[in-house]
Amino acid sequence: MASILDPSGELRSVVDDCVHCGFCLPACPTYQLWGEEMDSPRGRIHLIGQVLEGAEVSEAAASHLDRCLGCMACVPACPSGVRYDRLIEAARTWTEEPQPGAAPVPARSLRERAVRAAIFATFPYPKRLRLLAGPLRLAQRAGLDRRLRDSPTIRRAAPEVAAALQIAPPAARHHAPPEHIPAHWPRRAVVGMLTGCVQQVFFPGVNAATARVLAAEGCEVVIPTGQGCCGALSMHTGRATEAARFAKQAIAAFEDARVEVIVVNSAGCGSAMKEYAQLLKHEPDDGPGWAQRAAQASAKVRDLSEFLSELADGSDGPAAVRHPLPVKAVYHEACHLGYAQGVRRQPRDLLRAIPELELVEVGDGGTCCGSAGVYNLLQPEAAGELGTRKAAAIRATGASLVISANPGCSLQIAAALAAPGSAAAPDVVHIAEVLDASFRGISVAELTGGG
Ligand code: SF4
Ligand code: SF4
Repeated sequence: MASILDPSGELRSVVDDCVHCGFCLPACPTYQLWGEEMDSPRGRIHLIGQVLEGAEVSEAAASHLDRCLGCMACVPACPSGVRYDRLIEAARTWTEEPQPGAAPVPARSLRERAVRAAIFATFPYPKRLRLLAGPLRLAQRAGLDRRLRDSPTIRRAAPEVAAALQIAPPAARHHAPPEHIPAHWPRRAVVGMLTGCVQQVFFPGVNAATARVLAAEGCEVVIPTGQGCCGALSMHTGRATEAARFAKQAIAAFEDARVEVIVVNSAGCGSAMKEYAQLLKHEPDDGPGWAQRAAQASAKVRDLSEFLSELADGSDGPAAVRHPLPVKAVYHEACHLGYAQGVRRQPRDLLRAIPELELVEVGDGGTCCGSAGVYNLLQPEAAGELGTRKAAAIRATGASLVISANPGCSLQIAAALAAPGSAAAPDVVHIAEVLDASFRGISVAELTGGG
């Protein structure tokens, strides 16, 4: 019988693809943490199947689904090709946007609702996020952030606030990138660039480096001002209606910019934008034809490394000269880049092409760092444990530089590496900054802000 939650039967068919073999279990970070079947992909698929059969979403079931990071490590680990990503994204909407006529879902506590409301009233809006940056800067100067973060009372009464203060980076000064950056070389492409919300507020240097790298590789860069939030945080948290609204705004902005490619330097954002076609596939074609426009926009989206690799592998090869960057560096693969987008070879190839950069791998099998969008704010305890494990695995490599491709991972890893009592921490930088340093011939000390 078709479920009201799954009128087309699509989700049921994904659930039925699972043969319960358990090959995905070792890849799952929450199964690694707790060893509980219901906190594994197989257990969650079973729960989702029961709800599709008409079972109520119990408090326990909602909690097992909430504890999923959405890291997608289970998707490539599954020999049967089960699209767990489709299931968890749908299941998250059951609690965030309950359907009339569907089985009741447990109400979230007042505190949980307040935390979620605060997150979604600020994170997708760079202007509001920037308003927080000023007081944060003052608090950091006065050492107030550390005192609050380390206060046992705050950690007990408001762990989400303590987690937010723990991962908050030193607030950056606002630098709006120009809307148009000409190509340095004979032009090879006209590319649009997503500036991202967290990226533009906390890591404006990453966006500046991304634009310089693209220009140096022969790209005319267009940064549409009306792009807004791409909707990734909303999409990955089950707020599908909000995500669709953001997606439409971004699609329209990049259409107006008439770009051939949309380059994204944040793994979570790129992964969401590649899913626009899926997100908007049921939108009524009420004139603008959103389903088709979303599919066209998704087809243009490339992660920065993916696109630079396409240019480097093309007939003209790489345009910019790579200067030596003598450093031992470890590449942290963001789950939404490696698992969700399958972009694994490209960033490593780009880094290995930099003379004197010694690239090493984290020896933990690619387990999530615990960032996972806003997971580290919603599930601070599990995220903290995963962050500690990731920091230990990174330290074990002996690298002095950590290279990431996602702002959330950078914040989470930097905070975990800087935990009280830790030895001097390796610097965490974005791959765009590393390529930019090599292209411009600047030193490792300048790259990490120490020179
Ligand atoms: S999701 Fe895939 S790997 Fe995991 S139990 Fe089901 S079939 Fe096996
Ligand atoms: S998405 Fe990640 S946390 Fe969730 S079930 Fe899959 S492997 Fe586990």
